[in-house]
Amino acid sequence: MRREILSQLQTEYEARRQESDRIFFERRREVENKCPEIGRLMDSRQQLIFSSIRGIASGHPAESVEEKMGQINTDIRKQLTENGYDPDYLEPVYVCGICKDTGYVGYPVREMCSCMQKELNRRLYQEVGLGEDQEQTFERFDRTIFPDTKIPALGCSQREMMDMIRDMTYTWAAQWPDVKEKAGILLSGASGLGKTYLMHAMLKVLLDRGLNAMMLSSYKAQDIMRKAYFSRDGQEDLDMLMDYDVLLLDDFGTEPLMDNVTVTQFFNLFNERQTRGKACLISTNLSPKNLRDRYTERIASRLLDKNHMLIIEMRGEDVRKKVH
Ligand SMILES: [Zn+2]
Repeated sequence: MRREILSQLQTEYEARRQESDRIFFERRREVENKCPEIGRLMDSRQQLIFSSIRGIASGHPAESVEEKMGQINTDIRKQLTENGYDPDYLEPVYVCGICKDTGYVGYPVREMCSCMQKELNRRLYQEVGLGEDQEQTFERFDRTIFPDTKIPALGCSQREMMDMIRDMTYTWAAQWPDVKEKAGILLSGASGLGKTYLMHAMLKVLLDRGLNAMMLSSYKAQDIMRKAYFSRDGQEDLDMLMDYDVLLLDDFGTEPLMDNVTVTQFFNLFNERQTRGKACLISTNLSPKNLRDRYTERIASRLLDKNHMLIIEMRGEDVRKKVH
């Protein structure tokens, strides 16, 4: 997915450069018609560039090229002004002056320009389901919305618990696959404790690391699996579902149960992904007991396997009213 978006972006940048060339030649023709002297100056500048390149190639770089070039540029600007044009009228028109619309900067190590990186991330976030929730990051995580009164059953406050959970989830997302729990994380707890926020924050870390990650509601995942089950057309989507480095499954347990099919399909999903060395991040309102009741021991034991999964049970009070 990253590759497709990137190649689309490169095509757009190419078109941008062509458009910029087109504008330049159009302007040049227009100016030359009005003032042939500017055309001559532009030609001699071009000659100067060629001879300087030839000089460098032959090992005898021409001296004072820079000085001559400066003089010609000054003359061009002067002529433009005198003819009623903006002195920058014949400067290349770039959307981004840093990379000159190539999308890349640096030599010899080529790096993506910040303009392209930003747009790539924006599209990637859109594509993976982050959409309007791009602000939900670890950096912006506001611990003060969680109550600081001690919960006896936890031995700490909800705020302190969230500090720990934030650290654990951040570390996992920043280090996977070099983590103990390679198969993923199970985030369980009632609504409004911040599960989805953490999922978004982890997704962003994973994407920024260049990993192929995707977030889906479990309803959507079920839909993909069902379509693939009933027709060949859906096979491609199912293959993708199996192949993301990290699949984030939001709201596991809210999809409708369709006799044994749902359970079998989810088991296959978890099993196949684990076999391929891929991870799942699952958020659910269901407790471990509810998970067993709903999905049978076969799935529950896999999701609750502490050797492979990081299991985080969240407690406390609903903070959604404070978030919004
Ligand atoms: Zn740029």
